[in-house]
Amino acid sequence: MPAPPCASCRKARAALRRPRSGQALCGTCFCSAFEAEVLHTVVAGRLLPRGAVVAVGASGGKDSTVLAHVLRELAPRLGISLQLVAVDEGIGGYRDAALAAVRRQAARWELPLTVVAYADLFGGWTMDAVARSTAGSGRSRSCCTFCGVLRRRALEEGARLVGSTHIVTGHNADDMAETLLMNFLRGDVGRLARGGGLGSPGEGGALPRCRPLHLASQKEVVLYAHFRRLDYFSEECVYAPEAFRGHARDLLKLLEAARPSAVLDLVHSAERLALAPSARPPPAGACSRCGALSSRALCQACALLDGLDRGRPRLAIGKGRRGLDEMGPPGLHREQVQTPASEAVASEAVPSF
Ligand code: SF4
Repeated sequence: MPAPPCASCRKARAALRRPRSGQALCGTCFCSAFEAEVLHTVVAGRLLPRGAVVAVGASGGKDSTVLAHVLRELAPRLGISLQLVAVDEGIGGYRDAALAAVRRQAARWELPLTVVAYADLFGGWTMDAVARSTAGSGRSRSCCTFCGVLRRRALEEGARLVGSTHIVTGHNADDMAETLLMNFLRGDVGRLARGGGLGSPGEGGALPRCRPLHLASQKEVVLYAHFRRLDYFSEECVYAPEAFRGHARDLLKLLEAARPSAVLDLVHSAERLALAPSARPPPAGACSRCGALSSRALCQACALLDGLDRGRPRLAIGKGRRGLDEMGPPGLHREQVQTPASEAVASEAVPSF
């Protein structure tokens, strides 16, 4: 049976049905609709003011590739300029190939690219070195816990280095829903308190961050990359299978099979969550080491690095963090510790930025 005509232009044959609406569109009309929706997200949310110098967290993966491509298309209308900032975590056999994809994108799209490396920023620590340090501790899955915190810091440093005023990351709706589920499953009210997906406004001197794809489904991100013939890196990080995020992802797939709107419903729920006054995070101060906004004496990144340097990486995360940080409220476990928005990274980062 021939494909139906495109519901938008009525000229070409439809090449897909939009996963959530069921609308049959040709590839060209789908890509135009996708770009218009991202434009609406940015404009309606007032995410990127005219004149903004925007650092795109570029990992080479599909999400950041699609984000960079869409923003490049929209940049003249938005009045923004773009910089690609990539982070080299020091993951042998993975990151080098992903960075090669970012370099190809930068060359093809004529966008400036800056690469910042964990080893340079964090006293020689690479993710492979962190993994060796935590091996046998019974917390191997914490690689992503370390990496998420450090990568957030590295991206901030890279963006500042190139004079950016804003940071954007490629988190899509599925990523946001997974993070929300993880926070619920861990009882992490501090992160739940920060609510929805638009990002953080830039408290405590941190650069404002936003996620222009946070309402776009993973399936549509892949479809957009396909129809725009984007070149991206699709292998999974060697540490990803250990991450708790995988369980949230599996659960989300089951939920979505029963209720196709589950992903977006979760994202919208997060935007409307309100905590009781007694559960709200304490006012944030400054990290005593680096000055970043922190509700503890040491921010997450400094606490993690401190634990690694002491050869006690387990103390850098979880309950043991109390031992590094006597200023925090006594008796709080990690799940109850409140962190400010500037530290608002899931304790496992999304593999693709
Ligand atoms: Fe880092 Fe992502 Fe790899 Fe986890 S999966 S170690 S967050 S690059």
